[in-house]
Amino acid sequence: MSLPSESGATSWVDTANQSGNGFPLLWLPYCAFTPVSASGPASWPDLAAPMAEEPNPGLVPHLGVGIGAFILDLHKLQTSGLLSDLPAKLQSACRSIHLNGLMGCGPSAWSALRERLFDLLMWSGPDCTHDQAQQRLVAALLTPMAQAIFHKPVWTENYTDFYASLHHARNVGRLFRPDEPLLPNYRWLPIGYHGRASSLIVSGTPVRRPHGQCKAGSESAPVFQPSTRLDYELEVAAYVGVGNPLGSRIPIEQAAKCLFGLSLLNDWSARDIQSWEYQPLGPFLGKSFATSVSPWVIPMDALAPYRTRLTPRPASEPAPLAYLAEPDSNLSGLDITVETYLSTAQMRERRIPAQRLSQANLRDLYWSFAQMLTHQTSNGYNLKIGDILASGTISGEQPGSQGCLLEMTKGGEVPLCLPTGEQRTFLEDGDEVSLRGYSEREGLPMVSMGECRGRVLSATE
Ligand code: CA
Repeated sequence: MSLPSESGATSWVDTANQSGNGFPLLWLPYCAFTPVSASGPASWPDLAAPMAEEPNPGLVPHLGVGIGAFILDLHKLQTSGLLSDLPAKLQSACRSIHLNGLMGCGPSAWSALRERLFDLLMWSGPDCTHDQAQQRLVAALLTPMAQAIFHKPVWTENYTDFYASLHHARNVGRLFRPDEPLLPNYRWLPIGYHGRASSLIVSGTPVRRPHGQCKAGSESAPVFQPSTRLDYELEVAAYVGVGNPLGSRIPIEQAAKCLFGLSLLNDWSARDIQSWEYQPLGPFLGKSFATSVSPWVIPMDALAPYRTRLTPRPASEPAPLAYLAEPDSNLSGLDITVETYLSTAQMRERRIPAQRLSQANLRDLYWSFAQMLTHQTSNGYNLKIGDILASGTISGEQPGSQGCLLEMTKGGEVPLCLPTGEQRTFLEDGDEVSLRGYSEREGLPMVSMGECRGRVLSATE
């Protein structure tokens, strides 16, 4: 549900009304953050910083809401009494360090909080003295985004990685099975595997190059060494907001309502480890060493104006089985552009901006998040609040839309050329990958999913 006439409303936070800011009044995404004092550490850890699951584990995060160039502190908003008309359980959830408590309050509470935040941040005109007093109270609870350290916004127990982009599946399939790039099951069910939730890290946390067993095709035995074919995968994560008891299923008609929001996700992948270990049981250590998530969770309510139909399947392809048939296919997809950028150590030294490697759109997925969720519970599996369903690598049909290096470089055969003259087939130490997401629908302000960033650290001895 979206709020009435919100697309035309403006905020008294000036930066929210600036075109291109990406965090307008109708967006209001959530995060978990700690403020940095003017003399404090940089917002993001540098290469020399010690590895840590969270960039600054000594501070207790507060939940926040993005508006313009600022974060509104939800915790302080509640303790200031500005949420006192909301249910006690919802107010208590606003003082948590993760969004799980808010998710547990249910969809009507998600909308109620969003509506209250909208009212607090909306510009009502110059003559409303009551609102001006309230505005001063709220303004005191804003922290500039540039002065925040972000933390994982959600406590996630289970993480599933799907394979919902047919273009990605076909491009990768061509590398290994030129005669049959897509296996017969692809068009019938959302393919996925269970990932590891404990190695989920927030954007900005560096990623250590993993060791593993790697075997060149020409060799008779593998060697244990640092991966030489390290890759990223451009994905979007959907957070489960309503789970289901073990043994029950979530029907497709209810699936969309069980999703709380979306974030960007980078499924770091060691292709040499993966290609040796994956048969016959699928991804394992080539994937589990790190998965990055962006700090912002975009509520599904905020995404409502950006809904669209998934790109239609050709008439020759099978319709989904009844349990996967969307009740309204006009709303099954999202018009969100997603991009990958790469910056090498040399590029940063020479102040050359990060280079865009790919651009694709979420509406080109073959399977919707609702279909993924319903399929995941179709055997009675119990999804839990905070679980992640990731889209899988998002690629398009055209050149320049491939969401990982494996696809772009055709398995490491065709190197990328960078502005420094450097070449890449896979990631080198010091390379920084940044994922971005945004939408620029006509008649609506530009909205941003923020950034999911990670820099590659050299392997340990
Ligand atoms: Ca993946």
